[in-house]
Amino acid sequence: METSPILRQQLLARRDELIKRYHDAIEAVDRELDHRELEEAAVVTEHWDERVISLLSDPDVLHELAAVLAALARIEAGTFGTCLACGCPIDRDVLEADPAASCCGDCEITGEIHTSGESWA
Ligand SMILES: [Zn+2]
Repeated sequence: METSPILRQQLLARRDELIKRYHDAIEAVDRELDHRELEEAAVVTEHWDERVISLLSDPDVLHELAAVLAALARIEAGTFGTCLACGCPIDRDVLEADPAASCCGDCEITGEIHTSGESWA
């Protein structure tokens, strides 16, 4: 299936937006912790770890980023637009609604595939 450059652009923009969200949030934690006293360094480091880990494990964001990266990997591999569950072409309107969609409308409804994070080891 010919991959629409528009869908690829949308995926790249979404990927950058999600990564930027992490980046901004980590910077915010950094700024916040910068104001602490030096002797609190150990505590601060611990807090930073906690905050960043909780941020990185936000399941919604992580799932979406994984889906976007997987879709971009499928574009590279030439399998974009093919249902991962049944191998049928995914309808154009499904992809336009969600370029990261990994299965066709039928499989989406029956719920054969819930994740598309195959590139997120
Ligand atoms: Zn399918």
